[in-house]
Amino acid sequence: MNYRGRFAPSPTGALHLGSLLVAVGSWLRARSQRGVWIVRMEDLDPAREVPGAARVILDTLAGFGLSSDEPVWYQSQRAEIYSAALIRLQNCGVAFSCGCSRSDLQKNHGLHLHSCEAPANPIYQPAWRVRAPDQVMRFDDLLQGPQQQNLRAEVGDFIVHRAEGHAAYQLAVVVDDAAQGITEVMRGADLIDSTARQIFLQRTLDFAVPDYLHLPLLLDAHGQKLSKQNSSLAVDARDPLPALRAVLDLLGIAAARLPRVASVDSLLHAAITLFDAGRLPRRGTLDEPMLHPPN
Ligand code: GLU
Repeated sequence: MNYRGRFAPSPTGALHLGSLLVAVGSWLRARSQRGVWIVRMEDLDPAREVPGAARVILDTLAGFGLSSDEPVWYQSQRAEIYSAALIRLQNCGVAFSCGCSRSDLQKNHGLHLHSCEAPANPIYQPAWRVRAPDQVMRFDDLLQGPQQQNLRAEVGDFIVHRAEGHAAYQLAVVVDDAAQGITEVMRGADLIDSTARQIFLQRTLDFAVPDYLHLPLLLDAHGQKLSKQNSSLAVDARDPLPALRAVLDLLGIAAARLPRVASVDSLLHAAITLFDAGRLPRRGTLDEPMLHPPN
């Protein structure tokens, strides 16, 4: 089967080094397999979106020599497709409407484990949850090794459609990975915890289950996960070479092995032949490398 990978940013801010690591890593993986690399904009949630961020992300990727092999999909334009998947989940009896608030779930540590606490309030639209099976889901992460999660005990009944009226990430990502024929999902380790939910939805909806590879997270100097909301850590596409070299180094391609070239395209080209998934770092977290060490 031809390799199809993707990079699926949410437009909640500019790209930082951690998201660049995933973008470059997934691009190199696709190129080294002579496969396809797709960018998908996960702009599902208007409340979290930063206006203009989608454009900035695509321009930044272009500045680093990365562009989608197929037209970029915007999840905000695909509401009807997600609704059709929700109807399938409702029809097979896995999805139920839920008006529980956060405080209703407090006594179960935030998990929805039983029937709903409060009767649905007809004034508000309900959310839709999927009944979590009391079953250990297992998968082999290509980098992090064997994983398992009991969805009922560790996650509870989870939301697939939000009361705000849009699909939740877990459903949209599964529908789109299937619709785009993604064979391998390479992304940051913060999403490893979502994978069992996604595999459960894929099986329920009769979709193929892709392979998963979760890269370690980058942490800042304070040991915090990098986030798009912290714009001071945004990467600079006008001066891409230092960040690109740093990211390649983190992906197991030491700077000394790369030519002293002056363009991103020649650096990326050289990196394709040097890329080896066996050299990817397995560690849970990586420290953010200093791009501009103080004098
Ligand atoms: N949109 C998610 C994010 O920006 C990534 C989703 C995924 O790769 O599955 O964190």
